[in-house]
Amino acid sequence: MTRSELNFLFDKHGILPTPQRVKIASILFERPQHLSADHIIEQLKVSGSGVSKATVYNTLNLFSERGLVKEVMVDPVRKFYDSTTHPHHHFYNVDSGELSDIPDEQVSFQNLPELPEGTERESVEVLIKVRDRVKRAS
Ligand SMILES: [Zn+2]
Repeated sequence: MTRSELNFLFDKHGILPTPQRVKIASILFERPQHLSADHIIEQLKVSGSGVSKATVYNTLNLFSERGLVKEVMVDPVRKFYDSTTHPHHHFYNVDSGELSDIPDEQVSFQNLPELPEGTERESVEVLIKVRDRVKRAS
């Protein structure tokens, strides 16, 4: 994503483009991907940028609050930031820790419960947890 595309995104979501935020966004939006805060901290370190961990956490919270990225919680201690924000589903491999996309149209529901009174559906997202099949010794 170019700098002017990033500026457009920041503007669209009402986020002030500070140098640190732009740096973090440019890592996230390099390609469609799912990154944890730790991945991002690691990449910042590799690139020699001095963005603090606290800034990374605060920035990611701001990005997800404003809808710039989507949070995907795979378990209570693992959260991913998804650069793809339109509705879609995920596979999560508990062995490799890898999260991958399932296109929205590949999942359909035959039977969804009636919504609680006074609510409307915001989204239905599925997280399918998989594990590597154990190879049997022969
Ligand atoms: Zn995704």
